[in-house]
Amino acid sequence: MGRLLDLLYPPRCPVCDGIRPVGEPVCHPECRKKLTPVGDAACMRCGKPVADDSAELCYDCAGRESAFSRGVSAYVYEGELRESMVRFKFRGRAEYGTWYAQEILRSHRETLAKWRADAVIPVPIHRKKFRERGYNQAELVADELAGELGLPLYRDYLRRNRYTVPQKELSNRERVRNLMRAMEPGSDAAMLAERKMTPERVILVDDIYTTGSTLEACSRVLKAAGVAGIFIVTVCIGSGYT
Ligand SMILES: [Zn+2]
Ligand SMILES: [Zn+2]
Repeated sequence: MGRLLDLLYPPRCPVCDGIRPVGEPVCHPECRKKLTPVGDAACMRCGKPVADDSAELCYDCAGRESAFSRGVSAYVYEGELRESMVRFKFRGRAEYGTWYAQEILRSHRETLAKWRADAVIPVPIHRKKFRERGYNQAELVADELAGELGLPLYRDYLRRNRYTVPQKELSNRERVRNLMRAMEPGSDAAMLAERKMTPERVILVDDIYTTGSTLEACSRVLKAAGVAGIFIVTVCIGSGYT
């Protein structure tokens, strides 16, 4: 079935959006070189690159408490990747999700395994957005990661119950508070709680990490629902010092 779909809809390079012949790498090797991997000098908590590799935490994380304990990201959110993300989220390029997940694993497979998570959970989008877009981009990445790691994926563990507008003028604290009000445990959380099977450690997945407010809000809702350990994974992240 996968092969048939490839013939009907040939995969596109996530960087230049060019059609790729079946059997060749999804991303042109020369296109991949245009992206900036996060590398080893990164914040232990959010995964953001840090200028000084002796620093354990980035400037933002050093100055605040967080409900998640560790995080990694594959690429710096800039240049070609920024445009790729726009197509992934708004132009129907759902197919990029698999490649993004594979890129996360390429740099961080060992770290993800070390976390000993019980489940993978995507950051939710509001159902209105889901209807417009046809998919939740974070879920596509989470789905591939869960399959590769042999973990269950809970699509409706967190639910976004309210449509929020971008809140650039608010402080981080206010943004987190607003976003927490927009999130609630979904049907998977209720089902697992009823069976006394609430996961202890989860990997929370999103496409982009910028201020971290969304991931923080989701993590707090997960904590309140009884999840003890929260680890975050994103496809790309702001560099923090640009
Ligand atoms: Zn390309
Ligand atoms: Zn950080």
